[in-house]
Amino acid sequence: MPGFEVFGDEERKQVNDVLETGILMRYGFDGMRNNQWKAKEFEEAFAERMHSNHCQLVSSGTSALTVALASAGVGAGDEVIMPTFTFVASFESIMMLGAVPVLVDIDDTLTLDPHAVEAAITPRTRCIMPVHMCGSMADLKALKAICENYNLLLLEDACQAIGGSFDGKPLGSYGDLGCFSFDFVKTITCGEGGAVISNFEQYKIHADQYQDHGHDHEGNDRGAETHPTLGYNFRISELNAAVGLAQLAKLDDILAVQEKHYGIMRKAISDIPGVTFRRVPETGVENYSFLNFFLPTGETAQKAHKALLEAGVDGCFYWYTNNWHYINGWEHLRNLKSLGRMPSEIKEHIQDLNNTDFSKSDHWMSRTISCLVKVGWTEEEVEQRADKMRKVLEGIL
Ligand SMILES: *Cc1c(COP(=O)(O)O)cnc(C)c1O
Repeated sequence: MPGFEVFGDEERKQVNDVLETGILMRYGFDGMRNNQWKAKEFEEAFAERMHSNHCQLVSSGTSALTVALASAGVGAGDEVIMPTFTFVASFESIMMLGAVPVLVDIDDTLTLDPHAVEAAITPRTRCIMPVHMCGSMADLKALKAICENYNLLLLEDACQAIGGSFDGKPLGSYGDLGCFSFDFVKTITCGEGGAVISNFEQYKIHADQYQDHGHDHEGNDRGAETHPTLGYNFRISELNAAVGLAQLAKLDDILAVQEKHYGIMRKAISDIPGVTFRRVPETGVENYSFLNFFLPTGETAQKAHKALLEAGVDGCFYWYTNNWHYINGWEHLRNLKSLGRMPSEIKEHIQDLNNTDFSKSDHWMSRTISCLVKVGWTEEEVEQRADKMRKVLEGIL
């Protein structure tokens, strides 16, 4: 998935535009910036690509999630439903606001199980946050129906599935709000960066203010602006936005190559008895950044993962024992290890995560292997890789 593989002259040119004016900040200095507004330009292009009315660029995917929640009014004590399989940013962004993460099981989509979501709703629930992990999506139709039924927000974390779609809509644009990351290992990168998209003007206004200390961004004298709300600094710099502009222009080419490479790998292992694939919800189109499959048992999956790496098939992940992406590895969250005192709302209401039954998630995660799809491979390299994968898996099963 990494956009850093295609970094080149286009990115250098965009960054140079900024370096030549020396205005590294996205706001102000109108007379000196030679009409260069990289962040603004990115926001317009990204909103259009994502079929959304509004885009707010920020400093990371994690801050995008926090800004999205804050802009929709989620705050202390509100419950946000999130999956057991995700990146740590999910609970970090929720807890940042004093809101309470409620972890629920995933299913064979490797994302939120709608039944588990519905069972976890309480009077304090404000938001459902599906995370489209490893290139494919949650059952957004089912989740949207639940949100409409219980009057909840639907916030899509599309950080790992940019360019995929559901029901003809770009991932991130189906819910009330969508979040993206442009960190260094994502499908397109700004070095560091993130974005929030939505169709609601009020969320855009709030996001715009919240990510820049509450600035109202009226007029062209920053010092004279007023602050309708408390905010924070989650701004992106012009340099990062410039890199992103060049990368965004490459997104559709990256997706096309990923799809091709994914197809070759999938075909090579698809008729091996015992190999099954992650379920993609009906009408969903992956972004093909990972090939995700199940083996019959946790034991065979662990063996296969080890054998794949030994055979030189790098970029294969066994998330079940990973420190960053599954509840099993989040000892710091389970035991609420924070540097300072936790908000009482979180301490009082968070699940006892050391004693919650996540066996349904374990059932899928313990059997899952995800193989990264790169864009820089030659066709011959992909064929060789696919062949190796096939041999290794046949040997285990
Ligand atoms: C990368 C990622 C994030 C956070 O993005 P950063 O830009 O690294 O802060 C959030 N959610 C998911 C699913 C991610 O993969």
